[in-house]
Amino acid sequence: MNQNKIKFTRIIATLGPASSSEDGIRALIRAGADCFRLNFSHGDGPGMQPLIDRIRAVAASENAYVPILADIQGPKLRIGKLAEEGVLLQEGQPFTITRRPIDEGTVEIVHSPYEFLQRDVRRGARLLLADGTIELLVESVDETEVHTRIVRGGQLFSNKGLNLPGTALSIETLTEKDRRDLAYIAETDIDMVAISFVRRAQDLHLARELLGGKRIPVMAKLERPEALDNIAEILTACDGVMIARGDLGVEVEFERVPFIQKRLLRQAALRGKWTVVATEMLRSMVRANRPTRAEVTDVANAVLDGADAVMLSEETAVGQHPALVVEAMARITGEAARSEDPGRVNFDEDIVSFSAGAAGAAVSAAERLKARAIVALAGSNLTALLLSKWHPKIPILALSSGESTLRRLNVLRGVVPVATKEKSDMNAQIAVADQYLLSHEWARAGDTVVIVAAIPLGEGRETNSIRFHKVRAPDSAW
Ligand code: PEP
Repeated sequence: MNQNKIKFTRIIATLGPASSSEDGIRALIRAGADCFRLNFSHGDGPGMQPLIDRIRAVAASENAYVPILADIQGPKLRIGKLAEEGVLLQEGQPFTITRRPIDEGTVEIVHSPYEFLQRDVRRGARLLLADGTIELLVESVDETEVHTRIVRGGQLFSNKGLNLPGTALSIETLTEKDRRDLAYIAETDIDMVAISFVRRAQDLHLARELLGGKRIPVMAKLERPEALDNIAEILTACDGVMIARGDLGVEVEFERVPFIQKRLLRQAALRGKWTVVATEMLRSMVRANRPTRAEVTDVANAVLDGADAVMLSEETAVGQHPALVVEAMARITGEAARSEDPGRVNFDEDIVSFSAGAAGAAVSAAERLKARAIVALAGSNLTALLLSKWHPKIPILALSSGESTLRRLNVLRGVVPVATKEKSDMNAQIAVADQYLLSHEWARAGDTVVIVAAIPLGEGRETNSIRFHKVRAPDSAW
């Protein structure tokens, strides 16, 4: 079998100034990007529409199903303005964060627009600035000011992030901007949404409410300590999770991140949820033209930990070689997916559904029968997700007649979206799958495939059947 062409772990590329042109998007698709992430921290709904239209046009001309993941900003806390060259904060010096509007901060004081800062922080709390590179210890709090001592200094620039690890935040998870963006997404052509700084299941319920009737996968970005405490309810409420290691590694001690990643990926897989590992995966390639060995190992380990997708951020958004980074990522994930696979887990005992049963039984039958592929007929898309969680080493063909469904299938590990116009004719759908397998050299006539289906097709039933089938060449008599 031509296994090289099967895409197991998927690649999400963030679009930005370095990659948003027509040529840039095309180059990323050709290099192996399976999904584009739009970071709503750098724009709002209507502002993103021209880019959304461009992605759709380029993907169509490339015959590719490339979904768009909208990453909602969430309550990212920031400091205000400083001189352009920044200020150098020195260990042991006092530093104040004020709610009072000031024109420009100095080495002694900076503004923060976070309205609950004084209410939330207490004497003795730790504040982190600029991705955790600068650490402050709170000495006192008054009505408008938080007075701190600099524990770890560094160069600070305007609008850098402010993290309050260990402090419960009063701010809502979904800000006014997020609510506007979700309302826009509800009306436009976006395939999936990721919610930042999720703390509890309620945040996801609210996001779904704001999406109105639009039924698209909602992912929880796991980056706050509260999310780790509430992981069981979050996993029940979400369609997938992103291990957002950027903020996570600031909010918790960085040495814990690898183990949190492993644990969360496993817990999510046990619940049959889609998983993404994000941030600094090939960070050096923002400039360099090759990854470091440590980065290669990190990406491969994310695959071995069971991630369904890995994500590129600045590497493709503002980096110097966006397509080269995606190619490097594809090489690493391809090799890792072909190696041993400890990432495979059975589902939790309380995940009792026809889809989960069909997925486990189909993979085990496919292995026993040395089948060349598993085929999920149209209407069995949830089963395609659950099949993918079993990490079979053969392709999972998932048929659908819906463009947006086909795009979403393209982020599932090892799943190949295949278009069919036939909604309810089983033989016609099987013929489409056979033709696809033959033309991609994934099977020869007479090879076995395992089919899962919701019969009668086209009636919106849950997957309820497994069928064994031998691939037939068109016009073959046998
Ligand atoms: C992260 O913090 O790791 C992350 C993915 O979020 P963002 O890039 O939006 O900061």
